[in-house]
This record gives sequence, structure tokens and C-alpha cells, in this order.
Amino acid sequence: MPELPELNVISERLTALLSGQSITKISVFNHLVIHGLPVEDFSKRAVGEAFQKCEADGKFLIMTLENYEIVINPMLTGKFRVFTRYRNPTKMDMLSIQTDGPSIWYSDTKKMGRVYLVPRGDYSSVAGFSDRGPSAMDPALTLDSFILRLKRFNGQIKNVLRNQRFLKGIGNAYADEILLYAGILPFRKRSSLNLQEVERLFVSMKKVLTRIEEILVERSLDDITTEKRDFLMIHNKGGGICPLCGGRVSEVRANRFKTSYCQSCQK
Ligand SMILES: [Zn+2]
Repeated sequence: MPELPELNVISERLTALLSGQSITKISVFNHLVIHGLPVEDFSKRAVGEAFQKCEADGKFLIMTLENYEIVINPMLTGKFRVFTRYRNPTKMDMLSIQTDGPSIWYSDTKKMGRVYLVPRGDYSSVAGFSDRGPSAMDPALTLDSFILRLKRFNGQIKNVLRNQRFLKGIGNAYADEILLYAGILPFRKRSSLNLQEVERLFVSMKKVLTRIEEILVERSLDDITTEKRDFLMIHNKGGGICPLCGGRVSEVRANRFKTSYCQSCQK
């Protein structure tokens, strides 16, 4: 699923391409994607509004218009593309937003993503939006506030990292990457971590997310997809070689989610 570094880069790209352009048409190819209001109202309200900016908010992407915001939760496989000419929709395409300039196309192979249109600043109809923690990439998030916040969450450390109530923006894949660099096993109980480990976790989190964003900034919008995460060091590499120690990568699957880790590097 797209996590915060992806959504940050996608947002910057969309803002640069679209700010100031007016929306001329909304085409909804699959009605299941629209939540919180009838499809006709979505279109009626959005058409004529000028696109102001696009921002990532944890694992959501927010497109700010004049009076409304389009809020998108891309879930597992949501993808954003920009086209300057009309094209015929495919089975994966859920929605297109045409403007005076280019059009944004939102597609989703698993069709789990959700799109909302809300009055600016009112997120009450957006599922999973409220009660989230600060952004994992917020420069104002200090080690001290990280330590204090972490104490309020129990259970396995990987689940805490993925919990948007703790911090917003980290998902399954990048949690594995962060824990490899922190040298901590994903199944460790949060309460079992000592101060030194918590410090390592904080530093790894910042480093991993920043490094991934730096890689993504160099890519085209088309290449910012979860299928093209060739920069991952451990996630999804079960049976492969750990890049840090040369040992074998272990992998377990719980529900739909894979956890990959190294038994030598992570304790
Ligand atoms: Zn290793």
C-alpha cells in the first residue's frame, strides 16, 4: 500500500501539475469508490472548483479545492496518474478528474480504496481519519515525544509502528524496513524494549522514511507504485539474503500481511 513517503512525492507532483486549474469534469467509472455522498453530488460540487494544492496526511491524500477537499484513502493498491489527453478507461480505473489542464486518474486493482468529497476541513465522514497520531515524518516529532507517545501503546512493536493512532504514515512494508535497521524483531513486545532500542527505533524510522522519499523524488509518477519498490531491503524478501549480514531472510504471514525479518540482525 502507498505509505507516507509515496504520498508525499505524489502530492508534490500533483500540486506542481494542477494548482490553479479548474475542474471541468468528474468521471466515476466504478461507483463503489465514492463514499459519503451520492456520485451525482460529488460531480456537481467539484466541477467548477479550482485545484489549490495536494497534500499527504498519513496514508490519505488530500486535494484541496476552493470550497471542498477530495480525500483519497488508496488502501492497498490505489494509484495516481496524470494524462494530458483523453484515454479510454480500463477495468482498474475508478475515477478521473479532468481540469482545464491535465487530468488525474485514480485506479485501483483491488478496488478497496475510498474517495470522499468533504467541505474544507470537515473530515467527520472519512473513515479512519480522526484520532490519528502525529506524522511519522513530522520534523517536530522529537525523540522525547516519540518515547512518551510509545509508552501509551502495547503489543508487538511492528503492530504499534503500523498503528495510525501512534503515528500516521507507516504501513506494513516500511515497518519491516525500519525494524531491520533498528535491529529489533517485529514480534517483540513494546514493553520489552529498553531505552537504547527505542532510540534506535526512532533514528531508523526517520532515516528509512527520508531515504525512501529521496529515492521516490527521482521517479516519474508512473513509477511510484508499490509494485516497483525495488529499494526494499527486507520486506517481501523471504528466503533471500539479508543485505546487512548475508544471512537468510525469514518470513511469516498473518492475515493478509507478510512480515519479513532477519534472525541474526534483529533481536
Ligand atoms: Zn541480517
